Amino acid sequence: MKVEMENDYNTICDSVSSLIEGCRLSVRMKGTNDWPLAEIISIKEAIGVKEYYVHYVDFNKRLDEWVTEHDLDTRKVHFPRKDGGGSNTGVSTPKKAQIGSGPVVLTQSQSANVSGAVSRPSSPVNNTELLNGNAVLAAALQKRMNRKRKIPSLESEDSNEGPVPQPRQSGSMVSHHDDIVTRMKNIDLIELGKHRIKPWYFAPYPQEMVNLDCIYICEFCLKYRKSRKCLERHLKKCNLRHPPGNEIYRKDIISFFEIDGRKNKVYAQNLCLLAKLFLDHKTLYYDTDPFLFYVMTVFDNRGFHIVGYFSKEKESTEDYNVACILTMPPYQRKGYGKLLIEFSYELSKFEGKTGSPEKPLSDLGLLSYRSYWAQTILEILLDMKPVGDNEKPQITINEICELTSIKKEDVISTLQNLNLINYYKGQYIITLSRDIIENHHRAMESRKIRIDPKCLHWVPKDWGKRAKWNQSQNRRSSRGLSLSSQVNAEVEVKPDWVDLEEPLLIALDQIQVNV
Ligand SMILES: [Zn+2]
Repeated sequence: MKVEMENDYNTICDSVSSLIEGCRLSVRMKGTNDWPLAEIISIKEAIGVKEYYVHYVDFNKRLDEWVTEHDLDTRKVHFPRKDGGGSNTGVSTPKKAQIGSGPVVLTQSQSANVSGAVSRPSSPVNNTELLNGNAVLAAALQKRMNRKRKIPSLESEDSNEGPVPQPRQSGSMVSHHDDIVTRMKNIDLIELGKHRIKPWYFAPYPQEMVNLDCIYICEFCLKYRKSRKCLERHLKKCNLRHPPGNEIYRKDIISFFEIDGRKNKVYAQNLCLLAKLFLDHKTLYYDTDPFLFYVMTVFDNRGFHIVGYFSKEKESTEDYNVACILTMPPYQRKGYGKLLIEFSYELSKFEGKTGSPEKPLSDLGLLSYRSYWAQTILEILLDMKPVGDNEKPQITINEICELTSIKKEDVISTLQNLNLINYYKGQYIITLSRDIIENHHRAMESRKIRIDPKCLHWVPKDWGKRAKWNQSQNRRSSRGLSLSSQVNAEVEVKPDWVDLEEPLLIALDQIQVNV
């Protein structure tokens, strides 16, 4: 056996027999000819054939799969470190993904860092980039930050839970505790109404359900059965043709049902279980009491079919207006995700407050939110009329928040991500270039279905009053459910670079900045 040491734990091995869990090597991704770096999560042997459950290091966990030895490139294997601090548990995967140079799929931790709010300003850039609005902004901001160093910073918040105030690797892993079992997909296939869907992630269905070829789920009450026969028997008794709860919205074939996690506990739990198959970063909740569930359906002559849902805490001390959000895979990439998001903000508008989704967001969730925020804010900006002749329209950050119910951190991060803010002659200016406007119009054309506020029949409840008597209980349970407050702390950066009440001029052309 030829063994060559590359460094202390990189070896060339010529046999699959030496492979153990935690090894990293190139693996052929099913259905492709790509051989990305992967980590072996688990090994099983059936009738003399070994199979390997692998996680592709730079890719989302939903691509994890079982492969055989023919898919393994054993010429270069990276063994886990024996001291236990290495990659043997696989927890270090997200970290690796960040330095990887291949195609980058956002990991949970990256999502958490960039999602929803202003990230900490980078240090001042001393080059020509200063002409760029964001760089000017960053520099200006840095100055302010330096002046205001005394305000409690991220580091001090972080220091409560550990000695090393480093960026967190992954919020998701915190909840999973990298239990090998929960890292692996355990359900092969589900049947839901007329759809057969391959799950993406682990979900804690009862043990007797996991070794089946397929789980049969009633698309109306979400109860699960072992076989089609059992489901057919169930359907004869099950009278539901829509989710339980109140239908609070209907326009054309789209409806929304509001379900109280306390009143419809079994449905809510089954919904969480089903959703877990497609949401990685979510811990499972048997206590659904503190939540409302908003299920979106499409209607046909057989009933109201679930398209997606989001959950929402009855009372959120942190202004979250969405806890978990999911579009069922058969309905993805059709604009339904954005419809769910739009609906969640419509509820916030009815409540008269701003809101933000709970972090971390999934990679797909983050993309949808970013795009929703951008489109919604651009829609407002392009709609602004000048106050007087020869004047440019003006708007403040606070006004954008009030009009959209998008939380200020998300408004600011969106303006920054779109690179819209310029600093010119002592004032911040929102600059809308032709490119931005054209892209926006194109994007809006594809958003054919929209939420129509006139079709929402809903009065927000004051859960604070009615839940006073069991407040302590609620608080305890919601802490278990919310995805680690530490992760949230990362995005709670005070947007002190710009006065929220300061009018921002809106300019339609690229401004020439003369130095
Ligand atoms: Zn049913």
